Amino acid sequence: MADAKTPNWKPRTRAVHGGTKRSQYGEVSEAIFLTQGFVYDSAEAAEARFVETGPDEYIYARYGNPTVAMFEERIAGLEGAEAAFATASGMAAVNGALVSMLRAGDHVVSARALFGSCLYILEEVLTRYGVEVSFVDGTDLDQWQAAIRPETKAVFFESISNPTLEVIDIAAVSRLAHAVGALVIVDNVFATPVFQDTMGLGADVVIYSATKHIDGQGRCLGGVILGSHDYINKTVIPYMKHTGGAMSPFNAWVMLKALETMDLRCRAQAEGALRIATALEGQAGLTRVIYPGLASHPQHGLAMAQMEKGGTMIAMEIAGGQAAAFRFLNALETIIISNNLGDAKSIITHPATTTHQRLSDAQKQRLGISPGLVRLSVGLEDPDDLIADLLAGLAAAVGA
Ligand SMILES: *Cc1c(COP(=O)(O)O)cnc(C)c1O
Repeated sequence: MADAKTPNWKPRTRAVHGGTKRSQYGEVSEAIFLTQGFVYDSAEAAEARFVETGPDEYIYARYGNPTVAMFEERIAGLEGAEAAFATASGMAAVNGALVSMLRAGDHVVSARALFGSCLYILEEVLTRYGVEVSFVDGTDLDQWQAAIRPETKAVFFESISNPTLEVIDIAAVSRLAHAVGALVIVDNVFATPVFQDTMGLGADVVIYSATKHIDGQGRCLGGVILGSHDYINKTVIPYMKHTGGAMSPFNAWVMLKALETMDLRCRAQAEGALRIATALEGQAGLTRVIYPGLASHPQHGLAMAQMEKGGTMIAMEIAGGQAAAFRFLNALETIIISNNLGDAKSIITHPATTTHQRLSDAQKQRLGISPGLVRLSVGLEDPDDLIADLLAGLAAAVGA
């Protein structure tokens, strides 16, 4: 519910000071208002509050809360969005952004390569309520052009896809969508708020799972929908406030403090990722290293035009399929096996048997999720230690 009112600061200053509102005690660290409700001075005041709410006039934490509003204002200022609504998780944000604006008979075009739960919303949820969804290969502009039609209300994609790190041309897809008046909704988790000016490239709505790089330390679930004042206040909020996907004040406080260090963390992680990807390329036991910051990435030019750095994620294909990939994962000593990403701790995942297990073999093949594919989220450890761990893991994968 917060509208950005940030001075003309540079991003790192916005990440530290944006949205701060001090209580009468003048605290330095932002206050956490762990309250569901708010007291009215009189019955008349309660009545008036329900008629018209402003940003400082709270009714109930499902609608808004001062700590959550500070987080919303800080992230909106950082992203260059007019307004934001914080959600309980990244998926509450994806669901809210789409369901709040769509109705039966509408048409949506989406990239095929999506986070598993995003695919579920587009494939299973929207279609159940009469929304037609067309899927395209996100990197093929001809397919976007062919699929977008006059009744298309929204296009949806991950700017860098999970787990194969395809890069989508945000400006080009936005031009095609805007030609028919469709809203461009981008799940920007992998590109992070740090490396890409997603709205500047043409997106109307940007979504984050704050669980990932925004928290960045593996503590809380959260999400955020960013967009125009009208979209957030007239479309998203009426839906979200009655359907219950609000962020908790405690999680908002964690996210608010985490935004202060996000720029430093993401830059260190991306520098580590580039060093690691460079060290891995050409190693025995790997058939492929996929990293948008490497010249060998099929869309390296586009990635570097859209993003300041190649990001914090690397995908690689272990020669020898699932058995070799499992030997590789099991041999790692510093890097942990888990499925989150964007964390200070480096995390490795085998998508075919975990995050994308639900997909059929044909779908996996189509998306490039081969049995040997692993996804690495690079953390804040010393890159030399990570490289040593990965090389030892590869030796184990090849050696058996
Ligand atoms: C993790 C993730 C989500 C979902 O976020 P949650 O906070 O886990 O609900 C959505 N999209 C992408 C690209 C993600 O990586």
